[in-house]
Amino acid sequence: MSTTEADCIFCRIVAGEIPATVVHRTATTVAFRDANPQAPTHVLVVPRTHVANAAELADVEPGTMSDLVTAAAAVAHEDGLGSDYRLVFNTGAGAGQTVFHAHLHLLGGRSLAWPPG
Ligand code: AMP
Repeated sequence: MSTTEADCIFCRIVAGEIPATVVHRTATTVAFRDANPQAPTHVLVVPRTHVANAAELADVEPGTMSDLVTAAAAVAHEDGLGSDYRLVFNTGAGAGQTVFHAHLHLLGGRSLAWPPG
């Protein structure tokens, strides 16, 4: 499934066109709290550039892929998670991806089972 920038909900959050609880911003990334949190801390870190998934981001802007992880670590620190948190990229509808703008889930603040469901 593909989504264009014009109808992409995360592009609209990045542009400030729809509300979100933004917790961190950099030149290349924006982080905001998930609207349907699955843990006490559930933050999405997205690239400002519209790409469908993590692999595309690594292809077109490899530095931003690294920036996502750095931003997630900063938010984890700000939320008091220390070094105990999970980072997830769902890729493809079959793996649970519902928004086709690359996003890194940061989850923490509770015990996290492994393997995930
Ligand atoms: P995924 O299922 O991996 O594509 O993750 C998409 C995530 O985006 C889900 O966890 C949704 O709860 C979250 N989400 C969808 N719309 C919004 C929104 N407007 N603000 C914040 N989070 C959202």
